[in-house]
Amino acid sequence: MKYYKDHYDVIVIGGALAGLSSALMLADKGKDVLVLERHNLPGGIATSFVRGGIEMEATLHEMMSIGSKKNRLKVGQFFDDMGVDIDWLKVPEAYHASLPGLEVTLHPGYKTFAREIDAAVPGSYSKVLHLMHLCYRVFNSVNELSIHPMSKPMMLLKHTEFVKTAGYSAKEVIDTFELPEKAVDLLAPYWIYVGSPLSELPFTIYAVLMADYIGWGSYVPRKFSHEMALKMAERAEAMGVQIEYRQEVEKILVANGGVYGVRTARGDEIHADYVISGAYPNKVYTSMIEPASEVPEKAIRQVNARRLSLTAFSVVMLLDREPEELGIRDYSIFSGDTMDTDELYEDLTGLGPYRYLTTICLNYANPDAVPKGMTSLSITTLPRADGWKTVSAEDYDRVKHEVAKQMIDDMSKYFGVNLLDHIVEIVIETPMTVNRYAGAWNGGIYGYTHRMEDHIIARLQTGDEERLIRGLEFAGAHAISGNGMGPAVTNGRKAAKNVLDAMAKEAEK
Ligand SMILES: Cc1cc2nc3c(=O)[nH]c(=O)nc-3n(C[C@H](O)[C@H](O)[C@H](O)COP(=O)(O)OP(=O)(O)OC[C@H]3O[C@@H](n4cnc5c(N)ncnc54)[C@H](O)[C@@H]3O)c2cc1C
Repeated sequence: MKYYKDHYDVIVIGGALAGLSSALMLADKGKDVLVLERHNLPGGIATSFVRGGIEMEATLHEMMSIGSKKNRLKVGQFFDDMGVDIDWLKVPEAYHASLPGLEVTLHPGYKTFAREIDAAVPGSYSKVLHLMHLCYRVFNSVNELSIHPMSKPMMLLKHTEFVKTAGYSAKEVIDTFELPEKAVDLLAPYWIYVGSPLSELPFTIYAVLMADYIGWGSYVPRKFSHEMALKMAERAEAMGVQIEYRQEVEKILVANGGVYGVRTARGDEIHADYVISGAYPNKVYTSMIEPASEVPEKAIRQVNARRLSLTAFSVVMLLDREPEELGIRDYSIFSGDTMDTDELYEDLTGLGPYRYLTTICLNYANPDAVPKGMTSLSITTLPRADGWKTVSAEDYDRVKHEVAKQMIDDMSKYFGVNLLDHIVEIVIETPMTVNRYAGAWNGGIYGYTHRMEDHIIARLQTGDEERLIRGLEFAGAHAISGNGMGPAVTNGRKAAKNVLDAMAKEAEK
């Protein structure tokens, strides 16, 4: 029996969140889709692992853009629309900030959030609320404009605050509120989830992030992030998508400036009119296009011009006591010895000691995540790849353990308990793990950094010019929206939409 059909409408490289979102949307429109995944499981970084018979979340802290059942946001709505039924659990708080002179737990809801900041920094309520409302209006504009592009005069008329703030960094806009420094510190912790210091982070991105997380709160799937991938893959197959695992795509076949298929590591040549790549553009343009002479010169300039965003170092632990017995009281703790994000960003270039940590205790959102009497705790930092590229194979184990030990010691001090005495299972994930496991370029988890000159708004404007090989689209954290699992879903949908638009244009000819 033949393994593959003679021809597909679309081949998707990578069965993670972005690729599976593309596949679902294309299958929903009746297209014939093949997904090729190099791993033996779907999900990529959205995964879990089993240690000592217990399943543990490998990565996810929190998903944005889900919303409640009655009031879905775009990612939650997409899952519902596609018939992917995820058992979402709401995360109980926004975050606990442990910063110099501040120990504050903040909850979602703009007024609640402003009130709680005001309790820690008296006099800041109305300014914080005003800022949150500004974020909300910008968030609404971004959502509307990404679906209904409009003329510049109309945009000026209807989306004044979006237009007024689009050219400024988060720092520049926040500074206009003249808030006390400590209040600004409490407004900054999520910066790490978009990987740019506030001075470089476009306000538009900050606004969307804050409006979404603080307005609706965040969610996690009951069966860990892998629940999303497994259910998406199952639904895609039910809709007719062919998914093949352990099939690495080595080459994307191109002739006369357009794709016509792929070749796998097994040697299968498979044909399609469109290819959606979950592999990073850096990898595609430097080693996957066949023949290499079909790589446009502009493609190399393009990937060189972009700055890769952050990678991850995470210590995932199963502990032998309930959280309360270990002094762990919050779901999510951002801790650091400063909230100067420029300083912290510089610090992420090295190999530690890392000064800004994110600690997640899954029990508080998902009490059944681990057996009774135990705690699921992860401590994460999101370094830049630069430092890790200097680590030799001989030094890797030592460096990895030193960094993990420092992070465990720091959080042990914070909780007032020696976590080392309570570890039942421990897994240390490094940038190399991410690189090896998901094939992510330099172990990147967020694609390319959002900067003033290169972020979603600029990328929306240049989207057509960036399509350098006919029929080739990219879907992954490295695509237009960047940053994380929710945006990966959005990126997958956008790639599928581009393909559907191109197909419609072809049909008109
Ligand atoms: C420790 C950690 C914590 C995180 N926490 C959060 C969080 O709390 N919230 C959040 O939103 N995000 C979080 N992220 C980031 C998030 O996981 C990623 O941004 C997102 O999952 C990326 O999804 P993706 O679809 O782009 O692809 P990836 O997950 O990178 O997967 C790419 C897929 O393509 C496959 N592939 C690659 N090349 C080929 C090839 N040549 N042939 C076939 N298959 C190929 C890979 O095997 C993989 O399945 C975290 C990441 C880490 C590491």
